[in-house]
Amino acid sequence: KARRYTCQERPALLTDIKINIRNETLTERYSLTPGKELGRGKFGVVRRCVEKHTGIEYAAKFVRKRRKGQDCRGEVIHEVAALELTRACPRVINLHEVYETASEMVLLLECAAGGEIFEQCVAFSELDAKLLLRQILEGVAFLHSNNIVHLDLKPQNLLLTSTKPLGDIKIVDFGLSRVVRQNQELREIMGTPEYVAPEVLNYEPISTATDMWSIGVLTYIMLTGLSPFLGEDKQETFLNISQVDVSYAGEELEALHPAAILFIQALLLKDARSRLSAEECLRHEWLRGPERQKQARTEACVSGHEQLLSPEKDPAVEDLIVM
Ligand code: ADP
Ligand code: MG
Repeated sequence: KARRYTCQERPALLTDIKINIRNETLTERYSLTPGKELGRGKFGVVRRCVEKHTGIEYAAKFVRKRRKGQDCRGEVIHEVAALELTRACPRVINLHEVYETASEMVLLLECAAGGEIFEQCVAFSELDAKLLLRQILEGVAFLHSNNIVHLDLKPQNLLLTSTKPLGDIKIVDFGLSRVVRQNQELREIMGTPEYVAPEVLNYEPISTATDMWSIGVLTYIMLTGLSPFLGEDKQETFLNISQVDVSYAGEELEALHPAAILFIQALLLKDARSRLSAEECLRHEWLRGPERQKQARTEACVSGHEQLLSPEKDPAVEDLIVM
């Protein structure tokens, strides 16, 4: 049975940060760009801003420290620490500065001007999808080799440096990320319904393989524009996930290279230990091999449901199962 952690006692959070937190007013050194915000998430908003003395544009992520009546400063510190740990990885967004006020913290992030791959998802050719997935997997392999699981890999948290021409991937949003250590079990219930792995729903141990399930869902969506487990409501989605009720039939799937289907199937496995790792994915025939002609589709098809990609841009707070 799920146990509710308070933010302070939540295990697997990083606590050490190197960056100096600034307490002065943000607008002394930055001008917030008026107009449309870059994004909005669970606990705050992301806005464009310009550092006055350099003219460089950044994305300012404002996050509340109190959530549902609890002090969650530790969660934000963890997010900062995770970004510091991954600094060397070009596939992860860079953290520039951190500000703190009485009620919120502001993370000044490198701005990924191309926005979410979510916006482009339905438009990806198999070639572009492969290109982007390689980059995503390079980032995820880096995280995993540093014992960090992201736990919220989805199109809204995968940004592009530019869209035309297609730029590079930047992984963002380490708000749900955790540290996994050997001989220390991590069980928590969180993530975004469409992308969570069966073990998360069953309150079984979380591992790097939990991210790999999400990569499977992501690949399916990028290649077909269809969300493999999305049901009419959350309950149906969860049921589809726990039964691994996924269809490999239909014209969107038939158009793909058979190796692409095998790739997805090697990730959407109920048994976490059987899933490919990020490194193995990068060596998989579909991603590694020279570009080949499309072939007749694989025989590995099962009938089942198919749903359209969720129309909402970002899930509402209630759609996240953060406990
Ligand atoms: P949340 O934890 O609230 O989901 P995110 O870090 O995912 O916060 O940010 C919310 C949204 O803001 C993202 O989905 C994205 O659209 C946008 N965003 C976040 N960081 C950046 C960035 N560095 N550059 C451009 N847009 C960003
Ligand atoms: Mg997010």
